[in-house]
Amino acid sequence: MITVLRLGHRPARDKRVTTHVALTARALGADAILVSTRDRALERTVRNVVERFGGSFTITTGIPWRRTLKEWNGPKVHLTMYGLPLDKATPRIGRDNLLVVVGAEKVPRDVYDLVDFNVAVGNQPHSEVAALAIFLDRITLGESLQREAVGRLRIRPNPRGKSVIDSRT
Ligand code: SAM
Repeated sequence: MITVLRLGHRPARDKRVTTHVALTARALGADAILVSTRDRALERTVRNVVERFGGSFTITTGIPWRRTLKEWNGPKVHLTMYGLPLDKATPRIGRDNLLVVVGAEKVPRDVYDLVDFNVAVGNQPHSEVAALAIFLDRITLGESLQREAVGRLRIRPNPRGKSVIDSRT
């Protein structure tokens, strides 16, 4: 079980990026996302994708993130450009009830101490979406991309056009 914790979400400003964080989490093997700020529209968008494309990915918004971090029963990783190199850290991180924290704006200082590992996906600033994608790919040893969710809509790979199979039609 892998859960992503998204901190600092500002509904008006981060709508698109947080949606991408959630969809990337789902597509690359996470089971759930927790978002610090309540955002019903975001929940609807993500649940709509799950409803169409399948799987059991869940989203919860408006969570008491500090308490969640303090009480989490499993390894906790914070993705930050200031952390330890990904290649050094990943072999030490278990996947059993793993919590992966990503920020939006500046992450509160205590987060660095509340987690077990601060992990850098390179030491350059980039994006929470990119950092999460690479981290999940590494921690699942690339397996998550091989799995296919069973849902109403399925994409059949096509070298040129779009092939979508809708089980309802
Ligand atoms: N300036 C903010 C700070 O100092 O905390 C970071 C903003 S960054 C756009 C948003 C998030 O992307 C970060 O909180 C972190 O989770 C992730 N991120 C960006 N670059 C990263 C990197 N090189 N390695 C790991 N995570 C990264």
